[in-house]
Amino acid sequence: MAMRCCLAMEVVPLVVPPAPPAPAASVGWALLVRHLGWRVGAAVYPLRSLTVKQATILQLQPTLQALHAHHRPFVGEAAGLGPAAADALLPGLGTTLRRVWRLRWENEHKSALWHIAVNGLPGFPMHAAQLARGDADAACPCGTVMGEGDRVHHFWSCAVAEAVLDALSAMLLVPVSRMQLWLVCCPLEVHQLVWDVVCLAALSAMEFGRRLLYRRRPSVGGPPCSIIRVSAETVADFWARLRGFAAMGSRPAVGGRYPWCTPFLPLLRPGRFAFVGPQMWIPPLRRPLEALPTIPWSSQCRPWARAERG
Ligand SMILES: [Zn+2]
Repeated sequence: MAMRCCLAMEVVPLVVPPAPPAPAASVGWALLVRHLGWRVGAAVYPLRSLTVKQATILQLQPTLQALHAHHRPFVGEAAGLGPAAADALLPGLGTTLRRVWRLRWENEHKSALWHIAVNGLPGFPMHAAQLARGDADAACPCGTVMGEGDRVHHFWSCAVAEAVLDALSAMLLVPVSRMQLWLVCCPLEVHQLVWDVVCLAALSAMEFGRRLLYRRRPSVGGPPCSIIRVSAETVADFWARLRGFAAMGSRPAVGGRYPWCTPFLPLLRPGRFAFVGPQMWIPPLRRPLEALPTIPWSSQCRPWARAERG
């Protein structure tokens, strides 16, 4: 049976407390900004304390990540390490590239290092793609099949690159490792500031030799190019770059204690270098050679250089 309600429904006004006044827009924004920021890995960049340097880093994050992706195999090939172990050396490579960037020398001597660090020289990506697809390996004009990749071949194992390595080893009287050359890690016998210049000159000369090889590669049925001649011109280019640096008369870098006696570029007097090169023909420079006397490197300097480093 249906029940009927005898009470009429009525509206009872409730007592609602007044709402607090809305904060001012500036206060609202301040509260909001306090909790905004960016998180990149383990680093946090709050919006309130963001500096121009941090904002630049944030803007460059995609580029830096792509750069690290290219640097990782470079460090791995240089040190003979796997990708995981190479990660530990990446910060050191960044420090090295920044130090070399500050070197007062024309950028044309630095571009070879920048390019091989990202495997970015002409022809390298194409041959790397061919290797990845399993196509026929590209061959160097020296006659060697570059199964290990263009970078390792042209900047380490090619006959032309080996000529430059032989010149370095002959001066140091010890073999130079790939890590010392590619990652600019100075051997015991050389000051780091000098080794920066030497590595840039050596890598640039190897790139000069690579281009010379391709420029002189024989046509079909033609006579082969002379590897010995290309190698000699490449080594001469290396020494010419070092002599050109000495001719500028500037320190390799600002700061640091520079030894008087070190292979390749010992100090003649404060602020002035002497060039220690091979006993061979040296291309003429714009400045007279007699202004920069050649001092033969002697073994008597070696203990002194070690003491300087210690
Ligand atoms: Zn070759």
